[in-house]
Amino acid sequence: MNHQIFKIAALAGDGIGPEVMREAIKVLRAVESKFRIRFTITEAAVGWAGIDAAGHALPADTLALCRQSDAILFGSVGLPQRDPGISKEARPERAALMRLRQEFQLFANLRPVKLWPELGHVCPVISQRRSAGIDILVVRELIGGLYFGTPKGIDPIEGGQRRAVDTMVYTTGEIERIAQVAFQAAEKRAGYPGSRQPPKVTSIDKMNVLENGILWREVVTEVAQQYPRVTLEHMLVDNAAMQLMLRPSQFDVVLCENLFGDILSDEAAALAGSLGMVPSASLGATKGGCVFGLYEPAGGTAPDIAGTNSANPIAQILSAAMMLDFSFKLSAPRDAILTAIAQAIAAGNRTGDIHDASDTACKKVSTSQMGDAIAAAI
Ligand code: NAD
Repeated sequence: MNHQIFKIAALAGDGIGPEVMREAIKVLRAVESKFRIRFTITEAAVGWAGIDAAGHALPADTLALCRQSDAILFGSVGLPQRDPGISKEARPERAALMRLRQEFQLFANLRPVKLWPELGHVCPVISQRRSAGIDILVVRELIGGLYFGTPKGIDPIEGGQRRAVDTMVYTTGEIERIAQVAFQAAEKRAGYPGSRQPPKVTSIDKMNVLENGILWREVVTEVAQQYPRVTLEHMLVDNAAMQLMLRPSQFDVVLCENLFGDILSDEAAALAGSLGMVPSASLGATKGGCVFGLYEPAGGTAPDIAGTNSANPIAQILSAAMMLDFSFKLSAPRDAILTAIAQAIAAGNRTGDIHDASDTACKKVSTSQMGDAIAAAI
């Protein structure tokens, strides 16, 4: 019998990266056995692991592997004790992660934030702890706006002073393509079990002050016409920052430009209580029906717990589930992973970051025990 084969570049990176990547691969192998699919998973060095092995945070062989793959499953890179020792251009986050985003034109960053019903105790918003009604997808434009616009720089000016300039630029085309991703994601989420109905996109801008905000609102409103099932609302970014804390359950898909998305996606991630629960996808253009993407946990290398087999692997495993969903269009295997995670949590398995010592029905487990529980549930 023929199997579908998907090529995955697995770049674990530094700190807890290799520990949580091991568990994601374990889960993918369990998915392979259950469904008639095959993953060719090739591991390669990135970050400090790349510098140590080949003198560069993104070695040429690693980049070549990514180009030959259908998707990249990424861990995390960077070590605060080593990063200051090299130029900022050579540091892992810039030389590897930013380079990959540019190389593959990964313009859409998707970060789902869900507060799982059994994990209400970790939510920092007290009013939400019992309702556990948080299920938000932040869609952030990733390669435009203030971070990349020119002119950019620090110049000397008269009077011995200096001046810093950053430029926010968006074209209608750039706004339209990220809005399309947000509306399509809203429609797709509406099909997930237990999802909110009808789907909603909240588009964030600062149209009361910024020209960019005016154009953003105009283009998003036009794109919304193509998605009559999806409700569109606009919200100013300052209000959105407040609403995320006051009433997070009002949000479904949150659409942002780069800078606002950077800030709001981290604020939203905090609602899940631990970075160990938050995955992400960075997507490029569709090629031959397949969306190329880089999938990684929202958190970093967690040097404070690296090497102790105590990190939460769920963010990495959820990132793998997003890869099956967005790049490979494998919805049944994706659902199997989500169900398995729910079962592992319901059975009381908790890594340190989500453990509640007062809950006697829970047991504190290691990274590998959590991975084992999820793989076994599949
Ligand atoms: P961090 O996300 O690594 O850690 C912040 C806190 O969250 C720590 O207490 C850590 O233990 C905890 N945490 C993170 N992931 C966890 C998990 N899976 N399970 C349990 N706890 C988890 O942020 P930081 O300490 O500011 O950064 C450490 C390094 O990671 C830095 O070098 C930074 O540049 C890098 N970084 C990399 C990425 C990336 O590769 N995409 C993202 C963020 C930070």
